[in-house]
Amino acid sequence: MLLSQYPINTLKETPSEAEVVSHQLMLRAGLIRRVAAGIYAWLPFGLRTLRKIETIIREEMDRAGALEVLLPAIQPAELWQESGRWGEYGPELQRLKDRHERDFVVGPTHEEVITDIARRELRSYRQLPVNFYQIQLKFRDEVRPRFGVMRAREFIMKDAYSFHLDAASLAAGYDAMRVAYTKMFQRMRLDFRVVQADTGAIGGNASEEFQVLASSGEDAIAVSDADGYAANVELAPALPPTTPRPAPREPLERIATPGARTIEQVCAAVGVTPERCVKTLIVAGTAAGAGGAGATGPARAADAAGTAGATDTAGAADIASARATPLVALVLRGDHELNAVKAQKLPGVANPLRFALPAEIEAATGSPPGFIGPRGLAGVTIYADHAALALADFVCGANERDAHLRGVNWGRDLPEPLAADLRNVISGDPSPAGGGPLRIARGIEVGHIFQLGRKYSEALKATVLDEAGNSVTMLMGCYGIGVTRIAAAAIEQNHDERGIIWPDPIAPFHVVLVPLNLQKSPQVRAVADALYQELQAAGIEVLYDDRDERPGVKFADAELLGVGHRLVVSERGLAAGALEYRHRRAGASEQFPRAAAVEFIRARLQL
Ligand code: ATP
Ligand code: MG
Repeated sequence: MLLSQYPINTLKETPSEAEVVSHQLMLRAGLIRRVAAGIYAWLPFGLRTLRKIETIIREEMDRAGALEVLLPAIQPAELWQESGRWGEYGPELQRLKDRHERDFVVGPTHEEVITDIARRELRSYRQLPVNFYQIQLKFRDEVRPRFGVMRAREFIMKDAYSFHLDAASLAAGYDAMRVAYTKMFQRMRLDFRVVQADTGAIGGNASEEFQVLASSGEDAIAVSDADGYAANVELAPALPPTTPRPAPREPLERIATPGARTIEQVCAAVGVTPERCVKTLIVAGTAAGAGGAGATGPARAADAAGTAGATDTAGAADIASARATPLVALVLRGDHELNAVKAQKLPGVANPLRFALPAEIEAATGSPPGFIGPRGLAGVTIYADHAALALADFVCGANERDAHLRGVNWGRDLPEPLAADLRNVISGDPSPAGGGPLRIARGIEVGHIFQLGRKYSEALKATVLDEAGNSVTMLMGCYGIGVTRIAAAAIEQNHDERGIIWPDPIAPFHVVLVPLNLQKSPQVRAVADALYQELQAAGIEVLYDDRDERPGVKFADAELLGVGHRLVVSERGLAAGALEYRHRRAGASEQFPRAAAVEFIRARLQL
């Protein structure tokens, strides 16, 4: 491509709306432009990279035996009603009506559509297993679109869905996808980890994420270098402490803590460290809750009215909901963080997790939030994290405004609670696989593979006849890749202060050809034109900077754009029959004979 004929501008300044480096560089290099919040246009250089990513994905999917399809972006509501997701999916699902007032959705994912195809096409076990995939636009009305194409509303996904007769076949299909994904991300030269992941609301057996390691990543991953363990922090179990809880030594004592609501404020007021405190989070329970939670609703409802009358914090709507909802207390050590994914799986806890409203908390405890503790929480189910349960003589809220308790002991001052794993693992925790401590890394989820089971095939009645002629509901796997997100993730991992440094296999061009003083030197022009032809004829993709620009401008743009290999043609070099080469990561240039250009570059491409 001739840069003189390319109309897109690069930007010197960092756009202020871009928080992460990949977003900044994609805008500055002119790869993408924002059209609306979370909706982007891909411009020629960006699209070249995107197409290369797609090609690698397509090649490995084809190699794994998957069959490419193209499913519609607009899907009829009926299919979503049949699966139950018309009701389950929140505002992320973009619904629309056609001129006949019929309901449709803009597909955020395609389980329904593909299962509908499968139930119509697949009749016999002889047609199984099969894996259908597509590379296609998705729309999700994300709450917080951000980081450019990393978390967009409209984005391209490679999604694949496999159909199987039995669990062994599903497991084999899943493994084949893990292998294919591993090859793809290796070919893109990304530093990634395959991490165990939560199977979410869908349930199902196995689920792993492909996480590109980057400090800006939205996901926290627990990694143990000693034993190879890697899991999303959402899922990584925090093992109970191995040492027994110490015996109580201090007397129970009430302390006035005016205005001290946060752990830091309480620590300052009481004179302890956060590891000596517990925090008590009140969340919504389920009606058929664990323990006494469900049974105590009516008793608390009376409190609710009474308390609300005495304060001005509770509105009528809050009180109505306080009457309806049983509550659960989650107790954590002061320095630990609640893991919502773990908590919402506990019996009696509402899923998705919902924190109680201030009115609900006051109604249940008689105290405003900030002074809540597990002692004297009548009628509320209490789950304590293993680490909180291992404390003796701890500090907690007194369930009374402006007061805390110290010297509190499980068993002595309050009943033993239910034990649970409620917290995020932290750096230094023991690896669940047994080998050494965990460390926490940040990752960008670029792929997700998942043994779905029968959720959709059952709902949509996708069955085949087995060998004995019995009707069997098919098992499904689903496998996603964030195609557009990969471009951003690759930049997060490959850049410096001057710009992008693309890995060769996904760079928009292989080589940038930079002639100096092109407009004045017929010799430079002749050689550069010839090189442009020669390299292209050899299958090497060349970006030819034939603009009438100063060398500094050309070099800066080449570095911003991130093409890995740079060839400079100058009068001075040519006098010695030489060209100048520099890799984007190298500190200095080297000279080599002009006649050897094609072999020289070819030997350096890492495709
Ligand atoms: P996330 O937790 O990041 O929201 P998800 O679990 O919703 O991801 P899946 O439904 O498994 O994602 O989608 C498959 C892949 O699509 C993800 O692994 C991710 O790479 C990509 N993806 C998901 N949401 C977005 C988005 N808003 N913008 C860009 N890519 C996305
Ligand atoms: Mg999501």
